[in-house]
Amino acid sequence: MERKNAWTTFTDAQVAELETLCKGYRDFLDNGKTERECTSYAVKEAEAHGYKNLNDLIAQGKKLKAGDKVYAASMNKTMVMFHIGKEGLSHGLNILGAHIDSPRIDVKQNPLYEDSEFVLLDTHYYGGVKKYQWVTLPLAIHGVVAKKDGTVIDVVIGEDENDPVVGISDILIHLSGEQMQKTAAKAIEGENLDVIIGNKPKAGEEKEAVKKAILDILKEKYGFEEEDFLSAELEIVPAGKARDFGLDRSMVIGYGQDDRVCAYTSLVAMLENEEIPERTSCCLLVDKEEIGSVGATSADSKFFENSVAELIALCEDYSDLKLRRALRNSKMLSSDVSAAYDPMFPSVFEKKNTAFFGHGIVFNKFTGSRGKSGSNDSNAEYVSEIRRIMDDAGVNFQTAELGKVDVGGGGTIAYISANYGMQVIDSGVAVLCMHAPWEITSKADVYEAKRCYKAFLKNA
Ligand code: MN
Ligand code: MN
Repeated sequence: MERKNAWTTFTDAQVAELETLCKGYRDFLDNGKTERECTSYAVKEAEAHGYKNLNDLIAQGKKLKAGDKVYAASMNKTMVMFHIGKEGLSHGLNILGAHIDSPRIDVKQNPLYEDSEFVLLDTHYYGGVKKYQWVTLPLAIHGVVAKKDGTVIDVVIGEDENDPVVGISDILIHLSGEQMQKTAAKAIEGENLDVIIGNKPKAGEEKEAVKKAILDILKEKYGFEEEDFLSAELEIVPAGKARDFGLDRSMVIGYGQDDRVCAYTSLVAMLENEEIPERTSCCLLVDKEEIGSVGATSADSKFFENSVAELIALCEDYSDLKLRRALRNSKMLSSDVSAAYDPMFPSVFEKKNTAFFGHGIVFNKFTGSRGKSGSNDSNAEYVSEIRRIMDDAGVNFQTAELGKVDVGGGGTIAYISANYGMQVIDSGVAVLCMHAPWEITSKADVYEAKRCYKAFLKNA
């Protein structure tokens, strides 16, 4: 069962459309390096396309009807959009789900210290990272500092050309004899991922003079003090913009493409479907997937269910049964990235069931590890419906597993929505170097993802 290379199927007009989409995608990656930044971006786009804030509608007691567009956000880290369809909500929704958090280095609560006249931030990595990949790179600081008086300072340092960047050191090769004998997991350890942020002493100070100089900068330039780190969320991410990759510009390299590639294409599909849908369309962007979907802003929280309940209450008379029916009768593409075949590491893949760059959107009937542990196993009947929708719309797709059976694996948010009894399948874009500071995707796959999502919202 060979699948076609999508590039060979595109018309000139499609290639032009693909380039426009990927320009927007790179812009999204540049402006959405944290879950908060992605939520702000999506909310702004939603509002510009006529989506109204659910909380405002509740406050105004407005009733909703087919064609109305609604969004809700929680804690600035997760958001959901609804485009109300002609059928009642109890018939179910067509849902696109993706996550907007990515592996990174988080700043600890009490992070600031001086050692040998360097000032560093102590950190705690977030998600699955190969620690050795994060040293000797220009890094940026993104996030918020919430002060005791209730004000919240937005921080982005290291993205503007004129900004300084920060970074993590590694020992020179000349003195690495001992380090090079260690396993890759131990060569750089978690507590050694501290970020250097300064090296110049404050004039006239004797003790911790460099730290004092840094504290002056934090106060004067960014408006906060050392104690304010206690209530800050600062994320250390690779500094710099996403770029076209390859001499033929066929790919995109950028930070955080897991899973912002699915988040962005889902968002665009939602915004581009202007016609009133038959079934209500929905796009859900969640946080905390990379640490197991836990907490208030994750897929496992009640945020989505509560938002659907509020939606029913605004459309018709609410009942618990209607909510349960709406969820049970829903269909979902749970979108997360797939492992792309890497010719440098053929031994971890089983080629017949592997995602290849340029072969389109990837469907995983199941994910999980070894004996399908942690998997959502999508129903065969549902997979057949998805195949039909994709073939009818001429969308290039492929099917895959995450590596060889015994080699490893991974889970997604699919099983969480599946608990409602809805139809859910894992889908997404293949990524090379997943979870590395700089990840790579194929533009053809980005384009096919968006086409897939549009067809699904319309025809599922
Ligand atoms: Mn992911
Ligand atoms: Mn991931």
